[in-house]
Amino acid sequence: MFIVMHQGHTERELADILEQLAHMGFAGHVSQGVERTVVGVVGQTFPELKETLEMWPGVEEVVPISKPHKLSGREFQPKDTVIKVGDVTIGGESVVVIAGPCAVETEDMLLEAARAVKAAGASILRGGAFKPSTSPYSFRGLGMDGLKFLAQASRETGMPIITEVMSPQDVELVSRYSDILQVGTRNMQNFALLDEVGKTKKPVMLKRGLSATIQEWLLSAEYILAQGNRQVMLCERGIRTFETFTRNTMDISAIPIIKKLSHLPIIADPSHGTGKWYLVTPMSMAAVAAGADGLMIEVHPSPEHALKDGAQSLNFNNFQQLMSRVIPVAASVGRKMA
Ligand code: PEP
Ligand code: MN
Repeated sequence: MFIVMHQGHTERELADILEQLAHMGFAGHVSQGVERTVVGVVGQTFPELKETLEMWPGVEEVVPISKPHKLSGREFQPKDTVIKVGDVTIGGESVVVIAGPCAVETEDMLLEAARAVKAAGASILRGGAFKPSTSPYSFRGLGMDGLKFLAQASRETGMPIITEVMSPQDVELVSRYSDILQVGTRNMQNFALLDEVGKTKKPVMLKRGLSATIQEWLLSAEYILAQGNRQVMLCERGIRTFETFTRNTMDISAIPIIKKLSHLPIIADPSHGTGKWYLVTPMSMAAVAAGADGLMIEVHPSPEHALKDGAQSLNFNNFQQLMSRVIPVAASVGRKMA
């Protein structure tokens, strides 16, 4: 970050700035030009610092140079992060498919869905045991029983599982059952939860907050990374816009933007991204074409009878069709399906 001083600034103002920077833990390097004095600020900066420094006497403008996200940035790590979960690799050459019901409803339906998505080519099983819900009156998940059914389905099919953890107190419990911890859109800025999943050794999938900017999302990933957990993947799941036809607006551009800014794998969730089952396949194709490292798809044996998110869930046939449409798209951008 550079501080550009006013042309008529005083020596006292410059000295105060250097002293104040040191007090905040930054080094200040002064460069005296013919017309302008510029102070280079060295240290890990944060978004609101620019506005603060611009309040100081003698300062004309503050120009940020480095990005506020550090550990998640390409500058810090140019090479893509690759996450291994059992035999599955996320963020490598292949595009992985995570599929399963929105919520674990019964042991039988989960097993049925697990077998069907595996047969169609999915490599990770999803299913919510602790369900975040806008209304307290909709299905909130089976909790502990849901975790047990997921672990059972994983044993029977050999597929690793991903499920959501909603509170810091549950991180230990969910980690015992799940191979990947999911942090949902509503919790993207639950900093206590981010710290807690950051202390585990489990891969974490961080969904984009429903009104979060890309920078806020990366800064949330930073919380997990800063605790020492480097196995973080991001998930674009649609954001809130003025459009009401779809449940959310799926931000496909976020995929190449994340690829440019960050080394973390990016997964696309067109189920929550659109809210409509018939949009899931076209948006999956778009996401893979845009460079997504994986897809997360809601699949239910009988979507019209689902306790949650039936309207955006694919039946087994539609899921098979999705896979057959996505494979050539992946090939066209030099990827293959895992
Ligand atoms: C989910 O994946 O089941 C879910 C609740 O997603 P989101 O947090 O994106 O709404
Ligand atoms: Mn859902």
